[in-house]
Amino acid sequence: MKIHEYQGKELLKRYGVAVPRGIPCFSVDEAVSAAKTLGGPVWVVKAQIHAGGRGKGGGVKLARSVDEVRQRASEILGMQLITHQTSPQGQKVRRLLIEEGADIKKELYIGLVVDRVTQRITMMASSEGGMDIEEVAEHTPEKIHKVAVDPAVGLADAEADSLSRQIGIPEASLPQARTILKGLYQAFWDTDASLAEINPLILTGDGRVVALDAKLNFDSNALFRHPEIVALRDLDEEDPAEIEASKFDLAYIQLDGNIGCLVNGAGLAMATMDTIKLFGGEPANFLDVGGGATTEKVTEAFKIMLRNPELKAILVNIFGGIMKCDTIAEGVIAASKAVGLKVPLVVRMKGTNEDLGKKMLAESGLPIISADTMAEAAQKVVAAASAA
Ligand code: GDP
Ligand code: MN
Repeated sequence: MKIHEYQGKELLKRYGVAVPRGIPCFSVDEAVSAAKTLGGPVWVVKAQIHAGGRGKGGGVKLARSVDEVRQRASEILGMQLITHQTSPQGQKVRRLLIEEGADIKKELYIGLVVDRVTQRITMMASSEGGMDIEEVAEHTPEKIHKVAVDPAVGLADAEADSLSRQIGIPEASLPQARTILKGLYQAFWDTDASLAEINPLILTGDGRVVALDAKLNFDSNALFRHPEIVALRDLDEEDPAEIEASKFDLAYIQLDGNIGCLVNGAGLAMATMDTIKLFGGEPANFLDVGGGATTEKVTEAFKIMLRNPELKAILVNIFGGIMKCDTIAEGVIAASKAVGLKVPLVVRMKGTNEDLGKKMLAESGLPIISADTMAEAAQKVVAAASAA
């Protein structure tokens, strides 16, 4: 789960991370009064969307008067902000952050991720902040310094200071940087974050260290123990099909292709997508209906897939283990009738009550294409999609 920059900064501030004074706003009038409350002479008007690269896309603007804050806020609020992390249509800006302007002397980078190889939270730091860190990683990897933090100890003072020195933070500013780095690590740990990025972390003209941006992602599987994080969720920033799916406890991810996939089990769903691609097709979604799919769940899954205007064909691939094939057949038949299915449907079922399930599909009168192997199912659905 992602949150907005202003929410990330509010969270990090509670951990002692220095951030600029700022006020989130939902309208131009609010932005103007926020600017007056903060006081000048320089403000930054920042689009709040769940994607990075806002600066380059025109979503971060300086203002040198309250009038200019009004002007910038009215330009940015409501715009379709296009960045390398949004869809080509961009993301509509519904929230702003008005901040006091910072006097930037140097832009640095700090990132935290869970490294699967060391199984530790790894802190990354670079003197090359502000720009795309991916470019730094590719062209000058020696400029990225890392510490794999021992979970029993946490980020030690010496580790924080060593990273700070490696990215050029002057001696006099080390205690401040230490507070920020340790606060960032603790916030990451306490909230079950999966990613944290401060880009840029800045050095100001008067030697202060300040987090000028804040990006935090959280592990969805741990959200049950963080109601305060769940409360920060902004559904406007999420894919409507994925929100709908989460209501029915369906693991659904929208993709770019045109072949809908309805599968039980995440592993089988991945293998199904791979097989579709192997035969030249492109999956329209990942969808795991889980082990206990009911007729209702299968119907909802069909409805969600059919919302996608790109959809040309559907492949249902079920392994009947705990789930019986006749239950799935019942669900597929009911769902197809309920939604008035207009795209070709290929069904592959294996396992418990397979014969019964197949018989039900055959006798349903629906134009269902059945398949026996994964390869056959994928070939048939790719053919159906390209014929459609
Ligand atoms: P992102 O592009 O989505 O990562 O948004 P950021 O919050 O990182 O802002 C992009 C860039 O805007 C930063 O790298 C800074 O160069 C610039 N910026 C942000 N806040 C200020 C500020 O207070 N003063 C100045 N001069 N520049 C700022
Ligand atoms: Mn940034």
